[in-house]
Amino acid sequence: MKPIQMVDTKTQYLKIKEEVDKGIFEVLESAQYIGGAKVNEFSEALNVYHNSAFTITCANGTDALQIALMALDLQPGDEVITPSFTYIATTEVVALLRLKPVFVEVNPKTFCIEPDAIRNAITPKTKAIVPVHLYGHAAPMEEIMQIAKEYNLYVVEDNAQAIGCNYTFNNGTTKKTATIGHIGCTSFYPSKNLGAYGDGGAIFTQDAMLAEKLKMIANHGQKTRYIHDIVGCNSRLDAIQAAILTVKLKQLDNYIVARNNAANYYNKAFANHTKITTPFVASYSNHVYHQYTLILDGVNRDGLVNYLAEKKIPSMIYYPIPGHKQKVFETIGSEKYNLEITDWLTEKVISLPIHTELETDQLEYITTEVLNYINNH
Ligand SMILES: *Cc1c(COP(=O)(O)O)cnc(C)c1O
Repeated sequence: MKPIQMVDTKTQYLKIKEEVDKGIFEVLESAQYIGGAKVNEFSEALNVYHNSAFTITCANGTDALQIALMALDLQPGDEVITPSFTYIATTEVVALLRLKPVFVEVNPKTFCIEPDAIRNAITPKTKAIVPVHLYGHAAPMEEIMQIAKEYNLYVVEDNAQAIGCNYTFNNGTTKKTATIGHIGCTSFYPSKNLGAYGDGGAIFTQDAMLAEKLKMIANHGQKTRYIHDIVGCNSRLDAIQAAILTVKLKQLDNYIVARNNAANYYNKAFANHTKITTPFVASYSNHVYHQYTLILDGVNRDGLVNYLAEKKIPSMIYYPIPGHKQKVFETIGSEKYNLEITDWLTEKVISLPIHTELETDQLEYITTEVLNYINNH
């Protein structure tokens, strides 16, 4: 059996090595390292894949979120509603822009932001909602967009973990996550479902005016070279990453199938276990399994993590400390939050290895050892 890793980008690379290496060498030969044909080709392909009107590539997923919020003309102190149960990048950019993150609960089944909690958190200062499609499962976007319409709020989707996820509306139509809100953001961090071999990110919008603004902000606030109309930043996807991502984008749907196959193996092995809740998939979403995350009940989680580590099985806790309990947010009065579901989840979740290269003997070994521990402790 091959050693087990949380993510196996090396084996994945070897399967597409020839094409990837060719793309990288083409960039070296072209001497167009920033911008140019490879970046345009990838942006186009990404736009087509998402059936999006506009796609703007940038340096990473955190920048994508920051640029998105910068494009909305918010004022210092304006409130942005986000889940507390997410990666720090989601909420950090809000604070960075002197906006106020307002943390709300997630649904304990989907791990995604709860529409009723959004409604309860709205004040006259609320200007935007940032739902996160956590672990690769969509937040309930139809309800979120309805709330946004009622209260005239912007919606910025954090799709860093769910690229390729399909959202099905009540009327049966489907859209890719990241193309439903006013702006959608994603990340090409190497371990993400569409991972570069370095950093990368992208921003999606269906609005021409927003698209132009996003593009300007990502490029020093300029439309024409050396003419700077607004405050921007420098956030570029480099051509080598674009060449790699162009090759990998063609594999994304296969990668999602491979992740689902691994998840299905886990689901079967853990089905109906009284101490294990396997991932829930809502009728409106499919799952692209960026993470495979269980909820444990009556299990010594630290004990399980240590036991698995002894057996050379990595596992992770995403996320051990929620946003509202992070020191960085003390200044916004985070101590007043009472997010019971979020706190409960941070103590109960565990993520098992999931990637495109897991083999059956590895899955069998992992599930056997997880059950070994849980059934005997
Ligand atoms: C990875 C991630 C980001 C940030 O992406 P980077 O490319 O690492 O900056 C933002 N939000 C979520 C939920 C993520 O998982």
